[in-house]
Amino acid sequence: MKLIVQNLYKRFRDVVAIKDVSLEVEEREYVVIIGPSGCGKSTLLKLIMGIILQDSGQIFVDGREISSLPPEDRDIGFVFQNILLFPHMNAYENISYSPIVKNFNPKLRKNFIEELILFGKLEEWKNLYPSQISSRGIQQKISLIRALATGSKLLLLDEPLSSLDARVRISIREEVRNIVKQLGITAVHVTHDQNEAMAIADKIVVMKGGSIVEVGSPEELYNRPKNIFTAFFLGKGNFIEGKIIKSEDNFSSTKAGNIVFEGNTKFDAGERVIIFFRPENVLLEKGDENNLKGEVVEKRFLGRQIEYGIRVEDNILYSRVMRLDDPKYNLGDKVEFHIEKDSIIFYKYPQEGLEKAFKLE
Ligand code: ADP
Ligand code: MG
Repeated sequence: MKLIVQNLYKRFRDVVAIKDVSLEVEEREYVVIIGPSGCGKSTLLKLIMGIILQDSGQIFVDGREISSLPPEDRDIGFVFQNILLFPHMNAYENISYSPIVKNFNPKLRKNFIEELILFGKLEEWKNLYPSQISSRGIQQKISLIRALATGSKLLLLDEPLSSLDARVRISIREEVRNIVKQLGITAVHVTHDQNEAMAIADKIVVMKGGSIVEVGSPEELYNRPKNIFTAFFLGKGNFIEGKIIKSEDNFSSTKAGNIVFEGNTKFDAGERVIIFFRPENVLLEKGDENNLKGEVVEKRFLGRQIEYGIRVEDNILYSRVMRLDDPKYNLGDKVEFHIEKDSIIFYKYPQEGLEKAFKLE
């Protein structure tokens, strides 16, 4: 099912929760909406479901306008953060409860439910009541399968994994995506966890303050974010304020204090910019450009990687290196390093200042 949202607005008294949101979700696409708490993610899902009504704007599913239909006529499945299983029904009964499922031909219904239980690998749980199932991960999978049992081809998930233990979350998120993909469902999944978003999304939608900031594949948004908030929100980054002192044929030099960074940008000489690069692109060896020297002032063990904070003048630049090729620096060590030129991204200095641009609430 293809979902189109056009120019949606929703205000709660003096809070504009959704501000001119337009979005297209392709058939069978797994879209993840990410953004800080309070940015309007749940409101957007509720508008699509029909639990609340927009002030203006339209919603279409497969070309049919559903903007003013009641939720039960929209044919959309949903899963919430709070697991809402009927306590007096076992897993099988929970899954087959949906009124729509009840209208199916009983034999087809039985096959469909059995198939879904198989898909969800829930056989061993199907005769148990929610209180007998200690795993919240399994409980949430039952909610997911119940949502799919309605037969809807569009599924909305509002932070479905946030109440789960970290390790369970990682295994369940893969399962959720696989089930949705195998069944050919279109999904819109809301989270505030950037790792979850990158791991399961075909397409990520970044929201801030009721608006969509940027849409793209996980790779695009992580490696080449067009918006500085996307760069900030999707993982650790180095952000340095500077002024372009030379710019020719896309090649430029930017001065930040006494450091000069070289990179590719269309900005003109004289412009105030923020240059951004990820810690993975700060390599602890000499390179062809952007060679710097500094002192290790922070060191963090991240499991697969080590993160160093390196002081250069007034800046602390972060570098993440794989442990295998780690030359093992200690606090106080002097290091030579370089920043890969092609990894540097330039942003116009935000009018409201960097702190405000990164403000989460
Ligand atoms: P998110 O899910 O991204 O955390 P929400 O969509 O829940 O954000 O909320 C967006 C904004 O709208 C917040 O400022 C929130 O306080 C406000 N809001 C949401 N629902 C209501 C409501 N029913 N009444 C008043 N304000 C609301
Ligand atoms: Mg929410």
